[in-house]
Amino acid sequence: MRLSVTENKVVICFQCQKELQPIKTYLSYLGHSFYAEIPKCPDCGEVYISEELVKSRIAEVEMQLEDK
Ligand SMILES: [Zn+2]
Repeated sequence: MRLSVTENKVVICFQCQKELQPIKTYLSYLGHSFYAEIPKCPDCGEVYISEELVKSRIAEVEMQLEDK
C-alpha cells in the first residue's frame, strides 16, 4: 500500500506526495455495477478504494433495487 489517509480523510500518494482527487469510476463488485467517486492520484493513477466506501455504495445500490 503506497497510500496514506490523513486525519481529515485526505488520501495522499506516497510515491508522488500528492493529494488524491475524487474521480468518478465505474466499479463492479459482488455482481453489482455502479459509479462511485474514488480518490485517484493525478500523477501515477493509483486509486484508493476503501472497503467502507464500497460497502456504503453497495448498500445504496441495493436500496435502489428494492424500491423498484
Ligand atoms: Zn501517485
